Amino acid sequence: MRFNNKNALVTGASGGIGKVLVAMLRAEGARVAVTDRDTSGVQAEAHLDGDLLDDAFCDGLPGQAAEALGGLDIVCNNAGVITRGNITLATDADYALTMGVNVEAPFRICRAAIPLMAQAGGGAIVNTASCWGLSPGPDHPLYIMSKAALASLTQCLARDHAHQGIRVNAVCPNEVNTPMLRTGFAIRGLDPDKAVDELNASVPLGRIAEPEDIADVIIFLASDAARYVCGALVEANGAKPVA
Ligand code: NAD
Repeated sequence: MRFNNKNALVTGASGGIGKVLVAMLRAEGARVAVTDRDTSGVQAEAHLDGDLLDDAFCDGLPGQAAEALGGLDIVCNNAGVITRGNITLATDADYALTMGVNVEAPFRICRAAIPLMAQAGGGAIVNTASCWGLSPGPDHPLYIMSKAALASLTQCLARDHAHQGIRVNAVCPNEVNTPMLRTGFAIRGLDPDKAVDELNASVPLGRIAEPEDIADVIIFLASDAARYVCGALVEANGAKPVA
């Protein structure tokens, strides 16, 4: 029960990684405030549904979570969107969506959460970035630059707020078997199950990640077991480097 008496906010809580993460945090004693556009399918202590493209909503989320739970010790900026295609295919709307959800929302949430955590003596923030944010793959410039920005934000905040007892880290997955990955295959007219089988063969550990594999890393980074880990960008890739 690593999270007894801990209060956590998780974004993207209805998604593939988010749902599993929330269940794992709660199984270890955390009280969790969940947010996504619709969290009705997620068990949690507080439901704070909304759109992360809404600036005021993001600014208010940490305070609302703290009020609903009685404090805020952990923030997991896990929501994300992927926009595909090279830069000539990227619209202004794609840019606004990708940067809004993947960068501006975590920026706003961290900015509001850090003073609350500092006042309470510390906390842990874990961002879900991507291995592509560390080493770019092909044909996803918007997604990749957004995840690189999130990785950089992670390191900046870790450095600036460690003295307040706030640890900021990120997990950087390669492919994870979630709706984000599977809908990408479906859009391209591929059978997601077959496509995942083929991808599995490309990973030295023998399979792409399941949500639990990534949630476990987030759980570690959020826990006191990672008390000396601050500013880390932890790759979870089954030994598959970005091609
Ligand atoms: P997912 O699509 O299942 O979950 C993402 C969640 O974010 C969804 O529930 C979605 O509703 C929510 N979200 C998106 N835009 C939102 C908005 N405007 N307002 C509120 N909520 C919004 O995908 P996932 O794979 O579980 O993704 C979790 C994180 O992992 C993301 O940050 C993603 O970039 C990252 N990631 C995923 C993979 C992968 O292969 N699946 C690889 C590397 C990193």
